[in-house]
Amino acid sequence: MDSSMKRRDFLKSATLAGAAAFVGNSVPGLSEVQARANSVVRPVVIASANGLKATARAMELIQQGVDALDAVIAGVNIVEDDPKDNSVGFGGLPNEDGVVELDSSVMHGPSGRGGAVASLRNIKNPSKVAKVVMERSDHVLLVGEGALRFAVSHGFKEENLLTEESREIWLKWKETLSNQDDRLPPHDINSIDIGEGPKKYERITGTINCDGVDLKGNISGVTTTSGLAFKIPGRVGDSPILGAGLYVDNEVGAAGSTGRGEANLLACSSVMIVEYMRQGKTPEESCLLACTRIAQQTKERRLLDDKGRPNFNVNFYAINKSGVYGSAAIWSGPKFAVNTGEKESRLENCTYLYKREKK
Ligand code: ASP
Repeated sequence: MDSSMKRRDFLKSATLAGAAAFVGNSVPGLSEVQARANSVVRPVVIASANGLKATARAMELIQQGVDALDAVIAGVNIVEDDPKDNSVGFGGLPNEDGVVELDSSVMHGPSGRGGAVASLRNIKNPSKVAKVVMERSDHVLLVGEGALRFAVSHGFKEENLLTEESREIWLKWKETLSNQDDRLPPHDINSIDIGEGPKKYERITGTINCDGVDLKGNISGVTTTSGLAFKIPGRVGDSPILGAGLYVDNEVGAAGSTGRGEANLLACSSVMIVEYMRQGKTPEESCLLACTRIAQQTKERRLLDDKGRPNFNVNFYAINKSGVYGSAAIWSGPKFAVNTGEKESRLENCTYLYKREKK
């Protein structure tokens, strides 16, 4: 070992010793420690509705004693590898130039560490790269070309992620483009009325968020996506942003999201949901409060329906330390995947803020 390593190790142990002395006063009381020791760990894995297989795989690994982060990443890898899922990894829908750009974040409760990549091209498992960013760099988020070079340097293979099916969907969009893109005309920032824009068509979105509690009671989560279909190249959604598309606190719980990333980026909902749970709210109540906040924050007319409600959806998923789980969406309809130890996962209904009227 060279002398710089020795010095680094010395500094590390000195810092840890100092930190231990510093936190001495805030060590939990005996009753709290006892309560934790007595509380039964209930392993659970939840995910967005496209996570039936992912949650089942993650639970299988958790029951073998695998750490929650490795388990949920192995779960979402199934969806990233699936060419039939147009919203994540290989076969994801591309940006407006026809290039697939992926976003992902991971957060590991027990170490309090996280990693993320955004606008990553040519690598089908961005969640694995996000974990390497967490483990093998002093950074939390790498983007674009730098993220790709970092991945390649760690042995990830480059490949074309655009399947024939995704290319054809993109080409159809391109050929019928009209006003269906993400650009806005020049306008006054104080104006809430800047035309119809995206209101007129349903944009394809999709993502998988997966969160788990393992046998030790440790909590971790992952979110991975190809983001908004036909986005402006370089657009980054909420999925790779810790605090927005994913957040974990090992003492409290985890939360993650799918749906319109722009709305969630402006609200930083995942960290807010974890904070609501810290205050004692259930995962479901906390997710619903995040939906309410987004509805209150949305002011532009092009993003509202004729009753002033958001004309898009955002879904949240959350678990707490005791294994209680819940989910909520702005609009009724979405389901989420749950596994509490069974071989097969199940879908449950997300609670919601507004009920979709039948047309
Ligand atoms: N939240 C993702 C994003 O905005 C998309 C989605 O979940 O549908 O990139």
